[in-house]
Amino acid sequence: MKHVIVIGAGIIGTTTALALAGAGCRVTVIDSRSEAGLETSFANGGLLAANSALPWSSPGTPLQLLKWLGREDAPLLLRPRAIPGLGMWGLRFLANCRASKYQRTAAALTAFGQHSLAIMERLLGEQRIEAKIRHGGLLELIRGKDAERHAEDFARMLERMGAKVTRLDGAQTAALEPTLAPIANSIGTGLLLESDAWGDARAFSVAAAAAAQRQGVTFRWNADVLGIDVRAGAVRGVRLHDDYLSADSVVVCAGALSPAVVAPLGVRLPMAPVKGYSLTLAASDLDFMPARPIVDDFEHIGVTPLGDTLRVAGTVEFDGFDKTLRPARVDNLRRALSRLFPRMTLPDNVRPWCGLRPMAADGLPLVSATRVPQLFVNTGHGALGWTLACGSAELVTSMVTGQTDGRGSPFSLTRSFW
Ligand SMILES: Cc1cc2nc3c(=O)[nH]c(=O)nc-3n(C[C@H](O)[C@H](O)[C@H](O)COP(=O)(O)OP(=O)(O)OC[C@H]3O[C@@H](n4cnc5c(N)ncnc54)[C@H](O)[C@@H]3O)c2cc1C
Repeated sequence: MKHVIVIGAGIIGTTTALALAGAGCRVTVIDSRSEAGLETSFANGGLLAANSALPWSSPGTPLQLLKWLGREDAPLLLRPRAIPGLGMWGLRFLANCRASKYQRTAAALTAFGQHSLAIMERLLGEQRIEAKIRHGGLLELIRGKDAERHAEDFARMLERMGAKVTRLDGAQTAALEPTLAPIANSIGTGLLLESDAWGDARAFSVAAAAAAQRQGVTFRWNADVLGIDVRAGAVRGVRLHDDYLSADSVVVCAGALSPAVVAPLGVRLPMAPVKGYSLTLAASDLDFMPARPIVDDFEHIGVTPLGDTLRVAGTVEFDGFDKTLRPARVDNLRRALSRLFPRMTLPDNVRPWCGLRPMAADGLPLVSATRVPQLFVNTGHGALGWTLACGSAELVTSMVTGQTDGRGSPFSLTRSFW
């Protein structure tokens, strides 16, 4: 039986371990932390945005970056001091903003998002994993200047990619989602993406780890992988602080830290960390709760009901690997939330969090073999790791087990990042 080591137990590593075990591999997962999903998968937006899985490198992004350069109150903040560190990644990111590339990337991401959601449904249907996923669609609000025209262009693009989109005016949007009644006049169009779903990515990571354990997967917690051992041109194992584990294959699912894990082997991953924030509010502290996730393009936030909490996520910050929770950025999210729900009194008891999105330069994940035989990567999912996790796990598993070499895939490391 092939022994596969998975580095990282976030949403990507845990789902990968489960898929590998299902394919008959012996699997060991190693993570620096004490439990599954304690890094970027911990408190994300919770959206399974399969039908609007779009890259950030869009034609409008370069202008926004310039407009908001260095502004602490901007939803998308590029700190001037972060610019030198972005280097080649930054140039590639900008090159990917051209309209034709944006369209192609969006189509590939959306198709993969829909496929991933279908695999997740299958796992839940087969009761291989115990987790709560909610259905009922995602409501996207298009507000501001030219909202109707912009909404129509956007809806048509999503429909071309296979999404089912229902167009609502402000009053219809508020009728569907009464919590939005106070701002109904400002909503040009509400787009309901009925097939999207939502759930808690951290809870799913824990559930996937438990399901993997039931299938015989071993987890090594509080263990840093210090290096991957390659001899005679092939992977032999991994070095831990006080141990050595031999392996037939290694899959790197180390989130934003993945490039550092494989760099000593000459494998370059064109990725950068992109910081984002969330707030978690207890339902018992609120006098309202939306029935479904609301994504507000105007305030640049997503608001998601997650069991007995409300999760608010957003903001993009290029700040290197710095994970400092900056009060000004937390306040931005609070203010955006108050503007979206003006009649709400924000409780003091709000749990802020930030995490580093592992972002590939072209917005597509890196699910691929590498130049080192039997070394694979499943990383770089950026703002869509939760949405793409189950599809990515299945794809990398098919490579590890030799069913495909993945070379023609849009997620291969051999693709052009320009
Ligand atoms: C604010 C915010 C909102 C988001 N909202 C959404 C959303 O609504 N929908 C969506 O689809 N996605 C969303 N995302 C993106 C999603 O959260 C990420 O893409 C996803 O969590 C990445 O998962 P991962 O497993 O690759 O990384 P992580 O969760 O960071 O896991 C990587 C693991 O690797 C371990 N590790 C790293 N290096 C080593 C080492 N050397 N040795 C041992 N262990 C190591 C770490 O400890 C960690 O546990 C959001 C992200 C943010 C920040």
